[in-house]
Amino acid sequence: MSEHIEQSSTNEENINQESTEASRRKFLKFGVLAAGLTVVGGGLQKAFSTDDKKDTTGKKVKVMTTDGKLMEVDESHIKSAKHCCSSSTESREGIPGKKFVMVIDLSRCKDALKCQKACQKHHLLPEQDKWLKVFKMQETEETAPYWMPKPCLHCDKPPCVKVCPVDATFKRSDGIVLIDNERCIGCRFCMAACPYSTRVFNWEEPKVPEAFANATYSPETSVPRKKGTVEKCDFCPDMLRQGKLPHCVAACPNGVYYFGNRNEDSVTNGDETVSLSQLLKDKAGYRYLESLGTEPSVYYLPPANRIFPFKDREVEGDKAKENTEKKG
Ligand code: SF4
Ligand code: SF4
Repeated sequence: MSEHIEQSSTNEENINQESTEASRRKFLKFGVLAAGLTVVGGGLQKAFSTDDKKDTTGKKVKVMTTDGKLMEVDESHIKSAKHCCSSSTESREGIPGKKFVMVIDLSRCKDALKCQKACQKHHLLPEQDKWLKVFKMQETEETAPYWMPKPCLHCDKPPCVKVCPVDATFKRSDGIVLIDNERCIGCRFCMAACPYSTRVFNWEEPKVPEAFANATYSPETSVPRKKGTVEKCDFCPDMLRQGKLPHCVAACPNGVYYFGNRNEDSVTNGDETVSLSQLLKDKAGYRYLESLGTEPSVYYLPPANRIFPFKDREVEGDKAKENTEKKG
């Protein structure tokens, strides 16, 4: 940060002549270098104090206000600000030292849909937009059907990222593929490129709950959501930054989801923590459509040795309806 402060002080004349856009970039750069301050957009106002009683250093720093004006403040008036989430720039970098991986044990999934409900709730998603879907699968008529949850697979070679014309979707050092909805122009090239159909288009103006009315947007939360842009499962990076599990993993009552750090060869479903490589070896883990070469960060364990009978969602629904009608 100090390096940039010095640069800001000596470039005073240049700064005044810069275009608004160039100034904005400089402001964003300030936001990055002052990462401890977590300042971007509306957060900047909270990031420095104008408390005149505080001792000053005499060292001046140029900053830009949220209404686009350049102003000069004493370095001592810059202070850390707590905020809800990482800035767009911080969000692009990922969490150092991590390489996140998910394992989904198909033998445990009973279609409880608690994972999906938690995802919908925490990402403020309406009924029609689902980032996490659970499909009924059946290989042949002779084999038993099973349930298969499908989030974004956070591919290591993501075709979705390659086609984005404005760099709105990107892959981070920790393996997470995110979307910056403030950059997204809604062209939907990424939706066409994803072979797993995990992306959804937000057609409608989102209803923003009052509690989030003043939330600062971050690609790590995708809140507030933006009409006319693409969304998808994000592995809940805001939770990961707090050392917590993604919402779907924490919500599943059957221990279907394991999540962890490939660099540590460790995953947990909340109940048990196991070696990733051993789990994949013991249970014949595989990756969905591996032959495509996208190298997903999500593995599946086959639906072998299930200890519960399969219950069909639609059939159960119809039966329930039938029963209700008879009772009526
Ligand atoms: S699953 Fe689709 S959206 Fe997710 S990273 Fe892979 S290609 Fe991209
Ligand atoms: S819809 Fe958005 S994220 Fe997808 S390719 Fe277009 S600009 Fe990029």
